Amino acid sequence: MSVQAVTAKMAEVELKDVTAAAATVEPSPVTTAPSPVKMPQASAMKRPDPQQNGGEAFVNCDGTVAEAPRMKKIQFADQKQEFNKRPTKISRRSLSRSISQSSTDSYSSAASYTDSSDDETSPRDKQQKNSKGNADFCIKNIKQADFGRREIEIAEQEMPALMALRKRAQGEKPLAGAKIVGCTHITAQTAVLMETLSALGAQCRWAACNIYSTQNEVAAALAEGGFSVFAWKGESEDDFWWCIDRCVNVEGWQPNMILDDGGDLTHWIYKKYPNMFKKIKGIVEESVTGVHRLYQLSKAGKLCVPAMNVNDSVTKQKFDNLYCCRESILDGLKRTTDVMFGGKQVVVCGYGEVGKGCSAALKAMGSIVYVTEIDPICALQACMDGFRLVKLNEVIRQVDIVITCTGNKNVVVREYMDRMKNGCIVCNMGHSNTEIDVASLRTPELTWERVRSQVDHVIWPDGKRIVLLAEGRLLNLSCSTVPTFVLSITATTQALALIELYNAPEGRYKQDVYLLPKKMDEYVASLHLPTFDAHLTELSDEQAKYLGLNKNGPFKPNYYRY
Ligand code: NAD
Repeated sequence: MSVQAVTAKMAEVELKDVTAAAATVEPSPVTTAPSPVKMPQASAMKRPDPQQNGGEAFVNCDGTVAEAPRMKKIQFADQKQEFNKRPTKISRRSLSRSISQSSTDSYSSAASYTDSSDDETSPRDKQQKNSKGNADFCIKNIKQADFGRREIEIAEQEMPALMALRKRAQGEKPLAGAKIVGCTHITAQTAVLMETLSALGAQCRWAACNIYSTQNEVAAALAEGGFSVFAWKGESEDDFWWCIDRCVNVEGWQPNMILDDGGDLTHWIYKKYPNMFKKIKGIVEESVTGVHRLYQLSKAGKLCVPAMNVNDSVTKQKFDNLYCCRESILDGLKRTTDVMFGGKQVVVCGYGEVGKGCSAALKAMGSIVYVTEIDPICALQACMDGFRLVKLNEVIRQVDIVITCTGNKNVVVREYMDRMKNGCIVCNMGHSNTEIDVASLRTPELTWERVRSQVDHVIWPDGKRIVLLAEGRLLNLSCSTVPTFVLSITATTQALALIELYNAPEGRYKQDVYLLPKKMDEYVASLHLPTFDAHLTELSDEQAKYLGLNKNGPFKPNYYRY
């Protein structure tokens, strides 16, 4: 049977099995009994949000108030400034290429290709209606809807699993009665997710999780399609919370599911409308930051409803870290510097998932790639993959590009930057701006010249320049887009998590944070296989018995490393 047939069959019958499999789901061991599966502890999680700043309060289910970490919404000082100055048309366009994410650990294909509105009026001061007379939205310009629709249609091509889920919806509506309030990047990919949720029976109200990442034309298309969307590119901090509030504080409509990216929506409901949790069946959270906040709530016994940690599902992690970085490293470097990769000497610091992706991409482009590692296992992998394992100081004088991907701090320090050659490009794909000691470059003898958005030349007294990208912040999230296919995997995982939490019988999930059951992870992957005309082998009865597996999965134990 072809994989199309297999997955089509799965699409018809297996979602039920998949969700039923969740009946055996265990809460994440972060908050429960020890388990062989080592969940990343909050501190060890991938892509932690560097912008954490303490301080705001959570209102507990019982109405008491607790301190919880707050994430600063606007990260890039220069961008904030630009934004506060009410940017001109040109500077707005340049912003569209240099978006930062508030939830820096999650992202989207954030660049809007169409930020062409000349209108400086705040959407909050406008009266707009869609063609059916509905005015329950607040976006930049409803007239951009047609263009937004085209963007959504393009995204649909690369989001096969969601489209497959929609086909299923013709038969049944697993989200009938669901009232989902969402706070994610509002992009074409999110629109495909929202329209899928709607096709599965849900009502949705949506705000943006980031003040820069909304594609205005997509928001317009969603509003035209009847979605209550409150978001535009370049919201102020006040707008940001106002939009979230408009999603939840509405007469005659109360959410029963939350889909969050970064935890701000969840935080807002905890803070302002704690009683809403009486009707909420679950929270699905996508980002490291948001998940971290949920674990904190859970640890403190203050989580009111079950929550699903989508961030740590296998498919998301693998695709985000390895495959996404493999593609976006080239995009980020190219957009900012127009560099030619062939023959260039590149050093990649760290050979984890991100480092593997970056190294592979650059090698494939004809670069000479060196790798640094502290872990002998990853170091050996680098050697076996054909990379020269070096110490940074051995190659620092000769390399053309330095890329950090360690999640560590002070990997590239001033001493190394002093020794780099003229024109060396320095950038980071890992943990925020801790990996490159950017602060050490802010000394009087060095001159900084901003040559492009997100590109600084740091000039030494003798005229030597290094090219610092995104001030040492994550290059791809700051300067490039992310492949839609990667977002498709995350979006499918989100949709399945919503279906699972919404339909779970009483008692299956407690007030805790759960990982997506492995079978669902496998299902997400299987829904993406037809894109490649991939032919999946089926276990024979005999083989299944021999391996002690169910023919329909899960095929691996939870501790399997992939
Ligand atoms: P990982 O833990 O798999 O890999 C990091 C590697 O760096 C490890 O092998 C570690 O041994 C090595 N390392 C640590 N300190 C080092 C040092 N001083 N010198 C050389 N090597 C060192 O993590 P990962 O999944 O590859 O993620 C790496 C970083 O990238 C994390 O900060 C993560 O949050 C971030 N990340 C970024 C993106 C993105 O889109 N840019 C996506 C996912 C993760």
